[in-house]
Amino acid sequence: MIKENALLKRLFFLLFCSVFLIVFACSPESTPTISNQTEVLSTEYTEVTETLEISEETLEISPETDALITEIVTETPAESVVETPESIESPLQTETVDSEETIEETAEETTPTPEYAGTIALTFDDGPGKYTERLLNIFKENGGKATFFVVGNRASYQKNILKRMTDEGHEVGNHTYSHLSLKEIEYDEAVDQISRAKTIIESATGVDNKLVRAPYGDLNADVKEIARELNVSLIHWSLDSFDWMTRDAQLVYDELMSRVKDGDIILLHDIHESTVEAMEMVIPELVNKGYKLVTVSELLTETRDSLSPGAVYSKK
Ligand code: ZN
Repeated sequence: MIKENALLKRLFFLLFCSVFLIVFACSPESTPTISNQTEVLSTEYTEVTETLEISEETLEISPETDALITEIVTETPAESVVETPESIESPLQTETVDSEETIEETAEETTPTPEYAGTIALTFDDGPGKYTERLLNIFKENGGKATFFVVGNRASYQKNILKRMTDEGHEVGNHTYSHLSLKEIEYDEAVDQISRAKTIIESATGVDNKLVRAPYGDLNADVKEIARELNVSLIHWSLDSFDWMTRDAQLVYDELMSRVKDGDIILLHDIHESTVEAMEMVIPELVNKGYKLVTVSELLTETRDSLSPGAVYSKK
């Protein structure tokens, strides 16, 4: 009986324990089992470890980077920091500065033009010479046009200079082929002197040439008749600079500037260095005084419709 009771107690105890365990294990809101708790703790531990590892990688600074930071901090001058606002100019500020500069430049370019003083034609005979291109440069720098009465036998091997004259707006006239006095030679030879030079000039410039200046200004009835036949006009002058005689830049300047007036055709020679030196003073000064420097054709057609073949012109 005692054995049966003891056995029964053990059965009840086991049953109780089984029921207790079943109830706890099946309850959805039950406290996690030891196994579950261990799993949760393990997962959390892994996540924390990974986070720590990531943080360490992120914060890890290589020795090179560390040295660079030290260098920037210790060597960057304080002035650089102060200048930064000026360095970072906005596009608006830059445009403003540019506009101011443009306005200044425009103001320089638009200096008041001098009052009109007259129209004149500077004419240069006997070239092209070795100073002719220097003279062309003076006109290019200062503005104004000229007329070059070239000698045919010089022009024949310097056609490029004649072309430049035409390209830059100057006029090329005929000063005969070999600079002979037309009234001292035979009629046919005079015709040949003008015709040969005319052909050379036209082949170099591509422009029909209708102006002749007679060497030494020597004219007579025959020369005028030849000019009519060849459909050219004879161009004399109203102001002789005497540059061919004085050969002195200052004297040429004085002579020309003291006598110049509206409508003048001025006689000069670009084969003399002194004449070209004088032009370095004369041309800018004439422009500043309000003179328009034009070609002979432009000057003469200011007051007449056209030029007559065989006629002699010496001023506007
Ligand atoms: Zn001459």
